[in-house]
Order: sequence, then structure tokens, then C-alpha cells
Amino acid sequence: MSRRDEIAANLATVRGRIEGACSESGRDPGEVCLVVVTKFFPPSDVRMLAELGVTDVGENRHQEAQSKAAECADLGLRWHFIGGLQSNKAAAVAAYSHVVESVDRVKLVSPLARGAHERSEPLDCLLQVSLDPPGASGRAGADPGDLDDLARAVEEAPPLRLRGLMAVAPLGEDPARAFAELARIRHDFTAAHPAADWLSAGMSGDLEEAVRAGATHVRVGSAILGSRPRVK
Ligand SMILES: *Cc1c(COP(=O)(O)O)cnc(C)c1O
Repeated sequence: MSRRDEIAANLATVRGRIEGACSESGRDPGEVCLVVVTKFFPPSDVRMLAELGVTDVGENRHQEAQSKAAECADLGLRWHFIGGLQSNKAAAVAAYSHVVESVDRVKLVSPLARGAHERSEPLDCLLQVSLDPPGASGRAGADPGDLDDLARAVEEAPPLRLRGLMAVAPLGEDPARAFAELARIRHDFTAAHPAADWLSAGMSGDLEEAVRAGATHVRVGSAILGSRPRVK
């Protein structure tokens, strides 16, 4: 099987899974954007994805994302930055990303705004919220109690546009439970920020649970492109 056929088949399977979860929960599949996570995979794969109708791709490491976005600039893709952000890299990330999904502290807002300053469109931002218990090791994302301050900081920075929330289900936890909690957090959040109604949740292993909990974006890597080398 050619690489293209393999990607096409996997993509069809994942799209079918999204449609299945949507029909179970009475949602329109058009409400769920598939973000294909291309980290570790070459620009040639990104090109095939674009030919197969993918519009949104996700990357989690700045240098790799920057060079891939430059190499694939002709494809008109939307680039989502989904990884941990260092404040000294945030301005550079804002220059090539269309959506930054991992805004998790106020300190990132001013470098992101600086980097987004010359864009013609505002930079879409999602606040990453942690579903881990407070104090858990390797915790990524803001504490739910800190979201309002963070949202206000983003709303006050004009080159940034607050779009919603992003989360990852904690390892080893039932994703349905984690995403039910996320749905509650989102309910309160959108009451205060009604325009920020995107919810990025769900990966290869738990996208159905995320769609049932209201995800508008799923971030799927290995189910489409295959397994990645294990690195920390
Ligand atoms: C790598 C990654 C994904 C994709 O994970 P898969 O299990 O390969 O689908 C999704 N979200 C984030 C934040 C990631 O870093």
C-alpha cells in the first residue's frame, strides 16, 4: 500500500468515527473540525493530507512547526500550535500559527500579541485547561479557577481573539469522566465568554468521548499517520 493510500484509508476511518459519535449524540459532523496532528511526520505527509481534504493541522514543537509551516505555506492550511509554550518562543509561534491552543498563563499573552501584531487576521487562541488534580506531576494547562483572569488578558490584547478551551484527558483516567468535567468547566466559561465556544478535546484514543462531550475540534495524530517514536 502506498503512503497515500494508507493515509487516505486511516483518514476515512477517523472521519467515520467522528460521524458515528456525532450521530449517537445528535450532532452535525460539520460542527467538528478534524485537526490532524503532524508532529514527527514529514512535510510530504502534510501535502498528502491537504490533497485529501484536510484543512487543519497541529504541531507541538516550535522549531519543527515553524519549518514545516514554511515548507507547506502554499497549501493554505490552518496551523494549530498545541504544545507547551515557552514565553521566549511565543512571539515566533504567533507569527506562523493560525490557532494557538495551549495558552495556559497570562505571561504568554504579551509575547503572543507582539508576534501576532502584523497579521491581517487576529490570532485565534484557546485556553488550555488542566483536568489533572492540582499538584499532579507534569500537569499542563491552567487551573480552572484561573481561566477568567487568563480570558480577560487575552480579550484585552487586540491581535488575539479568544475562541474557547482546549484540554487533554489525564493519562490513565476514564476519558468520559474527564470530558464530562470539561463540559461543566466549559458551560461556566461560555456563560461569561459567549463568543468563545470552541472546545478542542479528543485524540486518537478518545475522540468519541470528546465529541459526545461537545468537542468542536479533535486533534488526531497516530490514528491517521501511524505511531511516532517515543520521546519525552
Ligand atoms: C500528540 C498530540 C495529540 C495527538 O495524539 P494522538 O494520540 O497521536 O492522536 C493531540 N493533542 C496533543 C496536545 C498532542 O500533543
